[in-house]
Amino acid sequence: MLILQYVNRLFYISYLRFYSRFKPLYLFRLIFATCFCQDRAFGRLFSSPQNRESLKPCLFSTPIRYKCLLFFSSFLLISCQSTVRQNAHSVEAEINKLPTSFKRDVSNTNSPERRPCDIKQGSAVVLMYHKFDEPYKSTSVTMEQFIEQMEFFKNNGYKVVSLSKIVSAVKGHIPFGEKWIAITIDDAYKSFLKAKPILETYQYPYTMFVNTQAVDENYKSSMSWDDLKAIVQSGLGELAAHSHTHGHLVQDMNSEQRTRDILVSVERIFQNTSTMPRFFSYPFGEVSNNLIEEVKNMNQVLLGKPFYFEAAFSTQSGPVGCSSNLFSLPRFAINEKYGLIDDLFKIKVNSLHLPIYDYHPKNKAICVEQQINKVYFSTDPSIDLRNMRCYASRGNLASVDISDGLVTVSLEKPLGHGLSNPNDIRERLNCTAYYKGRYIWYGREFTILKNSPECSK
Ligand SMILES: [Zn+2]
Repeated sequence: MLILQYVNRLFYISYLRFYSRFKPLYLFRLIFATCFCQDRAFGRLFSSPQNRESLKPCLFSTPIRYKCLLFFSSFLLISCQSTVRQNAHSVEAEINKLPTSFKRDVSNTNSPERRPCDIKQGSAVVLMYHKFDEPYKSTSVTMEQFIEQMEFFKNNGYKVVSLSKIVSAVKGHIPFGEKWIAITIDDAYKSFLKAKPILETYQYPYTMFVNTQAVDENYKSSMSWDDLKAIVQSGLGELAAHSHTHGHLVQDMNSEQRTRDILVSVERIFQNTSTMPRFFSYPFGEVSNNLIEEVKNMNQVLLGKPFYFEAAFSTQSGPVGCSSNLFSLPRFAINEKYGLIDDLFKIKVNSLHLPIYDYHPKNKAICVEQQINKVYFSTDPSIDLRNMRCYASRGNLASVDISDGLVTVSLEKPLGHGLSNPNDIRERLNCTAYYKGRYIWYGREFTILKNSPECSK
């Protein structure tokens, strides 16, 4: 009995569903049957051969039947339209029932300023080394420090990956992995030959950014082309471009001169090692928006091979993440001062990328005459940044104000204040905030110029 009730209920539900979906069709069938059910032609279609002859003549004459059909067809058309309209209204009503946060997310996805980037998408840290075991504390690390760092990565679950893996994650092709670290070395100093066997012992991949004039002219401090070829042959190291002359590309060269300077370094690496560089790092980390665009658009055939840069690296601190500019990626500088495995080192290698939607000033090269003493950036308002602190170069005091995801950093003195050395033209701003057991780290670096067309926009 229960089964029968269940089957009956199932049948009833199916009937209701069918009726609600095909209501106009059902009505039409009723109307059609009223007009034509007694018709012989219609009856023949649905009756068994035995019953055909017993069909009664139609109630209405032929002209009335067709008028009736025309009238009810119009009725059917109108009811179809009203059903479609009703459905549209109900979809709209469903959307209005959604929580407001969801609706805001949908609109953000369509906004050009707001890339779909979330802090949960993860980060990776790129380290920048220069010299090894040399008496320059600001650019060199001791061998003890270097070995200790490699051992720290091995024993604490860090994964040393290639730059191309990190670049693929920034592009969104693959997700960021947990505790990803990349090792880069700038300037191709000879002292790297002390670190090379250590990297080989740990089987850690690395990228060497080469300023080629120093190699071509056999500078005493520089590696030779044979040394660089051995890096490629080891299967662990990759060569990348760092310009030919290692000059101040923004301050001292125009667009044409620096493009040539960068392309010469690419050609020299290819001619000497048969590998085409895929990445670039800006000498001294000095960039302007124009230079970034030029590096991004260097698509051409070089020495019979198609060539373009996949990404470029600057020297501002911070982890790489989904909102990073692919042609101005951050790196943490590692030297003797910051080479100890202390709290600061652990904070850096474990730092989190902050999604940035917009920032001011837009240009990374600014004129000292602009007297900029406020820096803004906007981020996800749901990230609690109340404990954010910002630090500027040369002790310039920075106060932070946060309102609905907009962070305003007010500087006591304008950017570029107190720069006396004509070759030291960089100004740094680092902002950190404690977040769920780790630190968010957002770094900006400005190239400070005087009366230059580079900084006018
Ligand atoms: Zn360099």
